[in-house]
Amino acid sequence: MASDQPDYRIPQGGGVPWRDLSVDESHRPAERDIEITDVKTMALAGNFTWGIVKVETDTDHYGLGETFRAEAALDMAERMAVDLRGENPLDVDRITELLNQRYTGCGRIGQAAFTGIETALWDIKGKVLGVPVYELLGGKYRDEIKIYCDTHGGESLAAAETADPTEIYTPESYARAAREVVDEGFEALKFDLDIPTHRDADTAARRLDNEAVEHKVSLVEAVRDEIGYDVDLGMDLHWNFTVETAVRLGRKLEPYDLAWLEDPVPPEKVDALRRVTEKLTTPVLTGENYVTPARFNDVAREGAFDIAAPDVNKCGGLWEFRKIATICDLHGIPIASHNISSPVGTVAGAHVSAAIPNFLCMEFHARDVPWWNDLVTRTGERGPILEDGYVDLPEGPGLGIEIDPDVAERYLADGTELVI
Ligand SMILES: [Mg+2]
Repeated sequence: MASDQPDYRIPQGGGVPWRDLSVDESHRPAERDIEITDVKTMALAGNFTWGIVKVETDTDHYGLGETFRAEAALDMAERMAVDLRGENPLDVDRITELLNQRYTGCGRIGQAAFTGIETALWDIKGKVLGVPVYELLGGKYRDEIKIYCDTHGGESLAAAETADPTEIYTPESYARAAREVVDEGFEALKFDLDIPTHRDADTAARRLDNEAVEHKVSLVEAVRDEIGYDVDLGMDLHWNFTVETAVRLGRKLEPYDLAWLEDPVPPEKVDALRRVTEKLTTPVLTGENYVTPARFNDVAREGAFDIAAPDVNKCGGLWEFRKIATICDLHGIPIASHNISSPVGTVAGAHVSAAIPNFLCMEFHARDVPWWNDLVTRTGERGPILEDGYVDLPEGPGLGIEIDPDVAERYLADGTELVI
């Protein structure tokens, strides 16, 4: 850190230890003696607002990353350029720790913002060294990354507000959607099971009556009847229930051999989550709202969950993800990662997923975005990123992808400009 930079030190918090991260001199050969010059961003209108981060250098190499909650995180990522200009982008770990120190007090948005930057630094490093990012993260445990498809039965939640939800979220609609996804080649899928059941339900109470429980069970039963038991099937509850309701529902679902029941209770209620996990045979999954290795360690030590779902675009970056995976592995916990991103973030997730032993699968949440596979191309070759339920790991330098500027320009979100 140059001494004329303003001091942004913030009170310690979030489990980030203070260290002096300044470097007076850093010697590298000329070909690796490079500097960050700027951070630029653009937002794309996918099924979520996808936040693309571009880190530029004083060479031809630039890096790409993606942030979660782009509406707020992109501005913050651009402003982090003040911390980055002049730094060597190859110092990924030290730079990320620096950003962690300065922005962890800004909560999850700060974390998401520097997550996109961290990924872009790995992309640069891979390009400079001429190797794919997975090589830098430890090498390969696997070539193909298994993807689970976020799947929706029925119609939109908006439609549900004006009609009887049980006539929209029907066993037939769930079975039909499951069949389509399996026929597309996916070997793992997930439905939302916190869909509304009664128009007059007291949703704030977080309780389901028996009729509501039976409706949800009928949806799961219909899916299993349609696709059998060889497909991994998760159900997401989005933190909506009390312990007693989650356990009553979970026990009714035990015969359907779910791959996991996701987020039954609010994420901060660790003791409540542990009580649910202890009472069910079905694995309980959580983690999309935990963003530090320390947090995963604390919750895993409580025995509160069976499968971890860190999100590669908000957990602090690829190296932080790898730390989380290592901690979970020490606790005997596998990773089924959360992911709602564009192909940029998904490919970043694929690289780190290849490099960890305890990987189960990674989410794909954009089945209703027909141009998802068109947004990026593999460096030097054509072909879809996601095919038949797997991401075949790109072998080009860095993330091994390039954004197609014509596609990106067509789907730019309002108020944002093309940076590619
Ligand atoms: Mg979820």
